[in-house]
Amino acid sequence: QPKAIIVGAGIAGIATAIRLAVKGYAVEVYEANAYPGGKLSEFEQQGYRFDAGPSLFTMPQYVDELFVLAGKNPRRYFNYQQLDTVCNYFYEDGTRLSAYANSDELVQELSAKTQEAPENLRRYADNSRRIYDITNHVFLERSLHRLSTYLRWPTIKSILRLPGIDAMRSMHKANNSFFKDKRLVQFYDRYATYNGSNPYKAPATLNVIPYFEQHFGAYFPDGGMYSITSSLVKLAEELGVSFYYNSPVEQILVEDNKAIGIKVNNQIKTADIIISNMDVWFTYKKLLSHLPGIHPKKILQQERSSSALIFYWGISKQFKQLDLHNIFFSADYEAEFNSIWNDGTIGADPTVYLNISSKLKPDDAPEGNENWFVMINVPANKGQDWDALIDLARTNIINKLSRLLGEDISSLIQSESVLDPRSIESRTSSYQGSLYGTSSNNQFAAFLRHANRSSKIKNLYFCGGSVHPGGGIPLCLLSAKIVGDLIPTTS
Ligand code: FAD
Repeated sequence: QPKAIIVGAGIAGIATAIRLAVKGYAVEVYEANAYPGGKLSEFEQQGYRFDAGPSLFTMPQYVDELFVLAGKNPRRYFNYQQLDTVCNYFYEDGTRLSAYANSDELVQELSAKTQEAPENLRRYADNSRRIYDITNHVFLERSLHRLSTYLRWPTIKSILRLPGIDAMRSMHKANNSFFKDKRLVQFYDRYATYNGSNPYKAPATLNVIPYFEQHFGAYFPDGGMYSITSSLVKLAEELGVSFYYNSPVEQILVEDNKAIGIKVNNQIKTADIIISNMDVWFTYKKLLSHLPGIHPKKILQQERSSSALIFYWGISKQFKQLDLHNIFFSADYEAEFNSIWNDGTIGADPTVYLNISSKLKPDDAPEGNENWFVMINVPANKGQDWDALIDLARTNIINKLSRLLGEDISSLIQSESVLDPRSIESRTSSYQGSLYGTSSNNQFAAFLRHANRSSKIKNLYFCGGSVHPGGGIPLCLLSAKIVGDLIPTTS
């Protein structure tokens, strides 16, 4: 039986393990941490449970597909509900609006709260759908690099000039041309942060993102986000995949330009195929540091996505006006993104994202309390004085939430822990603590992500948020699908 080794038990590594086990490979997964899931993990804190990283679950069909592929009924492992209200928005001018899943209700709500004409909102939704129709099959669902024979620069440039995909102006410019009301421009600009980008720079092609949320919906797993990881690990183990925890891989062994195994815990493990789910930057800099000649310099120099600062707070009260997902917008969005992207710092008034899983999963917090996951977007880690920045941000966030909720938040915080770009980087080996691999702040970003297969080393593959097609759970699962398709079935 041919053998595959996967470096890392992030969501893409686990999904790849399932796909290869189904294809007939003996699969071993080596994970540096004591637990699976990478960014998609969970922890307990004085009676509260928290999902450590992702909180928004979209495209659940990509998870279900893995169970179906293995001949199992997904509902026996993993359940989720669709959200009727995707997110509540609070503006500094007192505006409050809810993003409903139903398109007609959404148009009604947004136009009622902002006085924007409903036709403009519908025109915007049609535009997002059109971008999806044009781009979906080219950019997401297959290896771009296999099409490389006809995806040469001149062809790429002409694809990008296709007026339909709107790649020549920024998201913000496009949104500004659709809406008179600045609150709506901000509402739609925020989708750039779904892959850690800057709406003032990222191409308007990314205005496809609201379509994903609107058309395919937003969901909440019954067992919390971590149940995505735990149910897939269970499936993988049933398929015979072996997971080795506390096993940081030190090197990928290469002979005659062919990957032949790994070095881990001072042992050599050989395999026919090696797949790295470790951030591609660290894969080269650490696991392939002995082969500097094969490093793809241009790709490794790509700008990274933004990172995050998260406070996990146990809160001794329940807030009726809050839901699972809540956004408290900054008063000046452009200044906020300039702080992150131009100055590499955190501005005085960051947009605050507040996720409360105990709203839908009450056992995540003691009775009468709530588990607050409070996150702001921050720059990638370039050695800033994070301790000072975190102290200041904490004060600003507490003041903002207290002001907009009319309640002194600091006196309600019962327990606290913090995740910042440094800890994201060290816990999951993500270069600069970026959440989504490389940023999408230029039109060529899609073509400058690392391929899912090495062009220099035979039998070496890559999956996860730092390679094609990009970060976020759905795209990580697609990277696993592409790798699965690239690797031949065993006979
Ligand atoms: P990772 O999760 O990065 O895991 C890689 C794994 O490899 C880790 O377990 C690491 O320990 C292991 N590893 C690394 N090096 C080695 C080595 N040498 N040997 C062995 N093991 C190694 N996405 C969404 O879809 N929705 C969201 O709402 C969302 N919010 C987010 C919020 C936060 C705070 C964060 C951090 C991320 C968020 N994301 C979100 C992004 C999403 O979490 C990631 O894109 C996705 O989980 C990345 O998965 P991955 O497979 O690339 O691997």
